[in-house]
Amino acid sequence: MLRKLLFQQTPKAYRFLSTQSTLPSLNKCSVFSYCSSSQPEIPLSNSIEQLQDQPKSTISIDRSGLYNPSEHSHEPSSDSELVKHLKGIIKFRGGPISVAEYMEEVLTNPKAGFYINRDVFGAEGDFITSPEVSQMFGEMVGVWAMCLWEQMGQPKRVNLVELGPGRGTLMADLLHGASKFKNFTESLHIHMVECSPALQKLQHRSLKCVDEDSTSEDVDKRSRSTLSGTPVSWHATLEQVPTGLPTIIIAHEFYDALPVHQFQRGFRGWCEKMIDVTDDSLFHFVLSPQPTPATLYLMKRCKWAVPEEVEKLNQIEVCPKAMDLTYTLAKRIGVDGGGALIIDYGLNGVVSDSLQAIRKHKFVNILDNPGSADLSAYVDFASIKHSAEEASDDVSVHGPITQSQFLGSLGINFRVEALLQNSTDEQAESLRSGYWRLVGDGEAPFWEGPEEQVPIGMGTRYTAMAIVNKKQGIPIPFE
Ligand code: SAH
Repeated sequence: MLRKLLFQQTPKAYRFLSTQSTLPSLNKCSVFSYCSSSQPEIPLSNSIEQLQDQPKSTISIDRSGLYNPSEHSHEPSSDSELVKHLKGIIKFRGGPISVAEYMEEVLTNPKAGFYINRDVFGAEGDFITSPEVSQMFGEMVGVWAMCLWEQMGQPKRVNLVELGPGRGTLMADLLHGASKFKNFTESLHIHMVECSPALQKLQHRSLKCVDEDSTSEDVDKRSRSTLSGTPVSWHATLEQVPTGLPTIIIAHEFYDALPVHQFQRGFRGWCEKMIDVTDDSLFHFVLSPQPTPATLYLMKRCKWAVPEEVEKLNQIEVCPKAMDLTYTLAKRIGVDGGGALIIDYGLNGVVSDSLQAIRKHKFVNILDNPGSADLSAYVDFASIKHSAEEASDDVSVHGPITQSQFLGSLGINFRVEALLQNSTDEQAESLRSGYWRLVGDGEAPFWEGPEEQVPIGMGTRYTAMAIVNKKQGIPIPFE
């Protein structure tokens, strides 16, 4: 079966890697299941309360002086800093917060957010991503970037931007894979867009960076990767990356971490699902009594859908940050040239109710011990397409295609064959399971290890989309 898969797809860009068959790092691959396909269930009937309509005229009371926690405060002392912070927002605002605000605080709160202070990836962490599964993933993304650079006319200077680079593994493997193509690597200035100081440090290490300004202690400065001699800079947002150069942007499992608003159809129409605190100090869902600001994005999203798509749904998720980010990104590509590659799990249409929490490779309740589990939601690829097209007439959008099609067309089958030829038995095992997890669908048929560790393929659950400047034509492998 593996052999059949190895040869079933024709490579379009394999030539970039065919000269290399080194195995820089095989021990990244771990072998237990990525995640199950089951969704965490929110029992709507008993967990969501309808808030009473508020009176039209209200009297504002300054409550700031009333909060004076004493030694005998009723706050449960076991609450984490983040839980106290979330309860504080709800308390002082005098009402619930949106699911999006909760998600944003849980993931990226500057003091205690899930991503902020630690390494959450890999077998020891909470979840594993494709770049951590096998070096081949970053190498294939590198092939894609080099092909686009060729289509761009091999510019002398290019910004290569990665959004949410995690441990920096994808970029390190991309540079390893491209190291023989000096014209390409010498044209690059790498920009890592990362909100987590801890992960910035890890990325700095993965890219084997040396700092150019040795007097500054901060990682937020110009460094150079000794993997390729390429300058590397870090930024908290895409807006901070300098404009004016052709740009290649990579976003792998970044969009799914952007906060989503959830709406539920009720007898009064669509209401936003919010998060409040019960009298006994537990988080719970409530429905907004009146339209919330995010309703504007819901209306925008619904306009892009055909009526039948929305009619059948009782819940809808919208991600304004994804729409806004895509708008910014597409405008930049429209003006500066280049393209973006987005790979994530999601749907090519309206997403209903996908938000999930994963801790130590298991699904947990979204409201349980926030900050200790990853929160992520399906990416709405159709909305990305519409946002990009709305932003600029100079860009075209391609895909989504499955990760399996994407990697197969770029030559992963030939790459794995080349790597297998120079591998030990242990490395070969690791390569096969890594390959299966990247391009397979369901459980790996060749697996002989413990049943609970069988590799589950991500090949069709993950999809790839490209947004490119029209001058570049259609990007490989989306023809
Ligand atoms: N691309 C990596 C990591 C995916 S996890 C991989 O595939 O392994 C999401 C990444 O995005 C993390 O690095 C996280 O710190 C970063 N991130 C999440 N939200 C962010 C935001 N709003 N701004 C910048 N970085 C963010």
